[in-house]
Amino acid sequence: MKTPLVELDGDEMTRVLWPIIKEKLILPYVDLKVEYYDLGIMNRDKTDDKVTTDAASAIIKYGVGVKNATITPNADRVVEYGLKQQWKSPNGTIRAMLDGTVFRKPILVKNVQPSVRSWVKPIVVGRHAYGDVYRNTEMYIDGPGKAELVYTDRAGLERRTLIHEFDSPGVIQGMHNTDDSIGSFARSCFEYAIDQKIDCWFATKDTISKIYDQRFKNIFEEIFESEYKQRFADAGITYFYTLIDDVVARIMKHEGGILWACKNYDGDVMSDMVASSFGSLAMMTSVLVSPKGYFEYEAAHGTVQRHYYKHLKGEKTSTNAVALIYAWTGALAKRGELDNIPELVAFARKLERVVVETIEEGVMTGDLAAICSPRAEKVVHSEEFLDEVASRL
Ligand code: NAD
Repeated sequence: MKTPLVELDGDEMTRVLWPIIKEKLILPYVDLKVEYYDLGIMNRDKTDDKVTTDAASAIIKYGVGVKNATITPNADRVVEYGLKQQWKSPNGTIRAMLDGTVFRKPILVKNVQPSVRSWVKPIVVGRHAYGDVYRNTEMYIDGPGKAELVYTDRAGLERRTLIHEFDSPGVIQGMHNTDDSIGSFARSCFEYAIDQKIDCWFATKDTISKIYDQRFKNIFEEIFESEYKQRFADAGITYFYTLIDDVVARIMKHEGGILWACKNYDGDVMSDMVASSFGSLAMMTSVLVSPKGYFEYEAAHGTVQRHYYKHLKGEKTSTNAVALIYAWTGALAKRGELDNIPELVAFARKLERVVVETIEEGVMTGDLAAICSPRAEKVVHSEEFLDEVASRL
């Protein structure tokens, strides 16, 4: 390796598995260069979360990071770990600094058939991670009256429009997005589609939302026409815009192998639907792609808290390490691609193939054994699975 990977360690069960993955599957084969940041909850607390922003700055400096799952503390976690405060989600902090979009891609194995029969290739969901209903403001209207949308510009000039003349109680909601954020989202999606050489689909409800959703449609179109049309043609891929209801109908009959760019809410809902059809959260990879060309690879799942408590009691767990391994292979392959080290890319792809082959030979953790067909030959614990992969590798 020429350039270090930025390594962001995490919490609980995934923190237990992380060094084992490195030790058994990577270090024997790769002269690994990393810059290590400990994002474990205790170190975030100790550094007043500075380690998270330092890690994000390192990704900006070097270009590629690999992140373990981390606890986003709630009130219970503050008590459990004796934290100074409820630190913000590290993923949120990093996403804000990298200005990125998250792409989730299922890992397919032959013996776990998706519930949607036609999906023979992965469907990647790219979710816009800013604004809309997630930054909304709402009001309960308790009686008759007029609700208006009011915008006051910096000079104090007002523009207003009627939302509804209420005769009886009801609800209203205000939400926003910005041209900048929508533009970054569009560029991240187009970059990802080119990187993976897959078509990009985008959909909104612009027939109903003639200003809000239409703005998304237009920004995507303008950026595609002016910056990406030729690059898509060169890559042999297409950009396709349609209505959200049309895309949902089409996707159920499609074979997959596409990027589905989703507005924030659509992405929230649809990525869970896609994950559930493809089997398990542990078979879902996730990458944060910044329009400025930074990449952060991770598993889509969390720290698998329940298994961690079992592990602390000395019990064996069946945590599936596949998505964590893929976080490493994704990051190593990207580093190899950027630094022109084909051996590193080849190693990462080989490791992925071996993981898939191990499962297809019937060796898997309990979560997959519960949904696979034909039945698993051998159901293994977390570490046994890594040994099985290592021996095949
Ligand atoms: P989780 O993903 O850890 O677990 C959700 C469910 O899926 C559980 O039933 C779990 O047993 C199962 N599961 C998930 N990954 C699995 C795997 N690899 N193998 C087998 N089963 C698996 O999510 P959660 O329980 O909601 O959250 C636990 C902690 O993780 C929380 O503190 C949360 O803040 C954190 N979290 C972090 C991230 C991240 O860093 N990207 C994402 C989600 C949650």
